[in-house]
Amino acid sequence: MNLKVNEIFYSLQGEGGRVGEASIFIRLSGCNLNCEFCDTNFVEGEMMSLDEILNAIKYYNSHWIIWTGGEPTLQLSEKVVSFFKQKGYNQAIESNGTHPIPQGIDYKVCSPKDNYPAICALNPEVDEIRLVIAKGDIIPDISSFPKAKKYYLSPIFDEIIPVQENILYCVEQVKLHPEWALSIQLHKFIGIQ
Ligand code: SF4
Repeated sequence: MNLKVNEIFYSLQGEGGRVGEASIFIRLSGCNLNCEFCDTNFVEGEMMSLDEILNAIKYYNSHWIIWTGGEPTLQLSEKVVSFFKQKGYNQAIESNGTHPIPQGIDYKVCSPKDNYPAICALNPEVDEIRLVIAKGDIIPDISSFPKAKKYYLSPIFDEIIPVQENILYCVEQVKLHPEWALSIQLHKFIGIQ
């Protein structure tokens, strides 16, 4: 079984409910969306077998994998999750929610972009909703999203609206809607991958 892998790196989770935790990021190639604010190069990639991926990560001290993309559910299957679970790894995923998240994932992050009813039907329950927000965006009612333990607003880092304005807007939105919390992309502030 092979996966098309864009990159593998070892760093700290920079955002959301596991912020600051050492994790092995496995970025799978390809995405089914084309968000204008996307800051990720996910097109390129090389085919790797599961054993090759295991060899690439086995010397890292953390046993937390984060499957990310692109959209990792386009390639990730229960068999892949089960393979790494048997090797002793915990696994998180960062998904746009447009495909079902495979069984066996230990920490599910859903970052929905639109079409929320379909996403709720596919993934009714996750650990974390992370909604990417720019200044002026309307925050949908929390009942629009899959049930989650935590709901985060994540200010967009882009060049159109200065990030500080997006952050301050999110701060005001969290004060207005305290069912949400603020998640800043800490890795970008401290200059790590
Ligand atoms: S879903 Fe995520 S990876 Fe895909 S285009 Fe949108 S921001 Fe980029």
